[in-house]
Amino acid sequence: MLPVAQISAFNPPRRILMGPGPSDVYPEVLAAQARPTIGHLDPLFVSMMDELKQLIQYAFQTKNEMTLAVSAPGSAGMETCFVNLVEPGEKVIVCRNGVFGERMRQNVERVGAIAVVVDNEWGEPVSVPAVEAALQANPDAKFLAFVHAETSTGALSDAKSLCALAQQYGCLSIVDAVTSLGGVELLVDEWGIDAIYSGSQKCLSCVPGLSPVSFSAKAVEKLKNRKTPVQSWFLDQTLVMGYWGNANGGKRSYHHTAPVNALYALHESLRLLANEGLENAWARHQAMHLSLRAGLEQLGLKFVVDEAYRLPQLNAVYIPQGIDDAAVRKQLLEVYNLEIGAGLGALAGKAWRIGLMGFGARAENVALCLKALESALK
Ligand code: PLP
Repeated sequence: MLPVAQISAFNPPRRILMGPGPSDVYPEVLAAQARPTIGHLDPLFVSMMDELKQLIQYAFQTKNEMTLAVSAPGSAGMETCFVNLVEPGEKVIVCRNGVFGERMRQNVERVGAIAVVVDNEWGEPVSVPAVEAALQANPDAKFLAFVHAETSTGALSDAKSLCALAQQYGCLSIVDAVTSLGGVELLVDEWGIDAIYSGSQKCLSCVPGLSPVSFSAKAVEKLKNRKTPVQSWFLDQTLVMGYWGNANGGKRSYHHTAPVNALYALHESLRLLANEGLENAWARHQAMHLSLRAGLEQLGLKFVVDEAYRLPQLNAVYIPQGIDDAAVRKQLLEVYNLEIGAGLGALAGKAWRIGLMGFGARAENVALCLKALESALK
């Protein structure tokens, strides 16, 4: 270790990020983040936040008043939903088909609620009939929680049908859209989603560390009628709303020091998404996936997830027999500056996860990844 006075400025290389996130950040977003810091209650900053809220509403396709960016990563968005809405002793149906469904279950238990787990194999989507059976067997359940796009496997679940079931059985839905937002169809109002959270670092191609969140009017009602205060001071949305202008007739008051520059970055990434148009962004992810898929199959690689519910933005493929997982990823990083993801949880050592997220979902990345893998697998 150097004496502290000799430590030089950190200057990372420009990598090509094709793992499960963070994804390649748009140059415009990096530039936005480097603009001068202003006060988080400065009138100019406040009007930027008004636009940011509007942009998040667009990305989520919602008119929900309570729509904002939590000043922390996707896991904090997840926790925001559970800690605000779920009260001790309440029952939550939690779907688990990978790492992040399990993280939801842990959140449920930590708020002192009861988790009823619906399990699916890794690589499969959440089973709609199994969820319906769980809802029938648990008429006292208050919530249905599931991951729309399971990043640990690359499986896409049918959020529209699951949310329709939640409504039919009188439950509020809590949806993880960390990897789905901006990459695949997601219609919060049309599908009747009650609480949703995402992350800045996946298909939005923003810097990591922020979590867009939105609550429906029904979810806000549930929050307002809590019998006990929200256990977390920082994530308590009744307090945060005072800063985001959803309380006090739009007047803003200090809650915590907002990550000012990171919010410039989110504003810029969402502005780029709105300029491209959501449908175009979804189509681009799908087109890039098809071209990557063709090349991966030519290399003899097999997908973990069936075509019918495969995420375009997260391509999990089995590592061929006799191939050294870590050595291949090291070669990609050192020779091509290219990062792909290792397997997670049950897929650790068995699969690679190749991300095509946001700015990363483009033809030159697909070509580079295929060339690099071809040389590493020779
Ligand atoms: N949910 C899903 C589906 C994710 O992929 C991730 C991160 O990869 C998270 C939640 C947690 O987000 P973060 O790592 O930003 O806390």
